[in-house]
Amino acid sequence: MLKTEAYSYLEYIKRQPKTDIHNHALSSCRFQFLKQNGVNLPDNYKMNGIASLIDFSRKYLTPLENEISTLKLLLEGNFLNCIETGVKIVCPSIDYKICLRTFYGDVQTFISFLQQFQYDNLKILWDLSISRDSFVEEHRQLFLDLLQTKFFSGIDLASTENIKPNSTFVEFYKIANDLNMITKVHAGEMLGPDYIKQCILDFNPKHIQHGISVIKDKEVMQLAKDRNIVFNVCPSSNVCLGYAKNMKSHPIRKMVDNGLNITLSTDDLLFFDSDINEEYNKLFVNGTLTFEELEKIRNFGLEIFKK
Ligand SMILES: [Zn+2]
Repeated sequence: MLKTEAYSYLEYIKRQPKTDIHNHALSSCRFQFLKQNGVNLPDNYKMNGIASLIDFSRKYLTPLENEISTLKLLLEGNFLNCIETGVKIVCPSIDYKICLRTFYGDVQTFISFLQQFQYDNLKILWDLSISRDSFVEEHRQLFLDLLQTKFFSGIDLASTENIKPNSTFVEFYKIANDLNMITKVHAGEMLGPDYIKQCILDFNPKHIQHGISVIKDKEVMQLAKDRNIVFNVCPSSNVCLGYAKNMKSHPIRKMVDNGLNITLSTDDLLFFDSDINEEYNKLFVNGTLTFEELEKIRNFGLEIFKK
């Protein structure tokens, strides 16, 4: 397939089964979906860097998360988009604080709410996530209770890297690994390879979310390979937030060259306006990766869940 065949590649990729393993549950529907469903949002909100993302979340997203009806809408919008774009397996990552804020800490009601989302053409494997910024010690027991329900397939540590010491969260990873959950950690998006290394050693995670700075250190790349770690990479997110210069020079090229395990994901569709097919297509039309390399990535994502 030639590089100029952009249209046909996009049409091709739309029809193929794929995964979205790095997907923040409540910021992964289309902006237009919310507007069409009567949510009051500004007409032209320009997402430009991390500050505008935080501002948007605070002003518009948090109030939607706090009401059960709009929380449901956010999740429906996410899953309908997955089905429309050919995603067969999605790992929506939901913050444990939703249980606290919207369900007043009632674990069973929270889980029952999540269980209602079932679709014939989409497998949903929930990740329980922690935002490093807002975690406080008083929430420890709630998080442990949620882990012990065994409803969640994975855990995920997100938001500002290293804002709290890893020791705060090590206990959760030990339990989740013992439960054979898919342990994930956001690392190497904002900070360098030393932090990725620290997270690998402290948490023994199965997946790294982003991890793009790993290319700066051969030794850390080897460590990730030795431990068979999967990197769930979201190129549009990286470019939009300025962690990668552009699509053409995205670190995913070097990650592939170094033989790392990679999947492609969307991160936050609501913010970055790029669905899973667009993520594949951008790497193809910019010549970042070849058709064959993108096929390998797509198939690898599907393989993970066959084991
Ligand atoms: Zn993320």
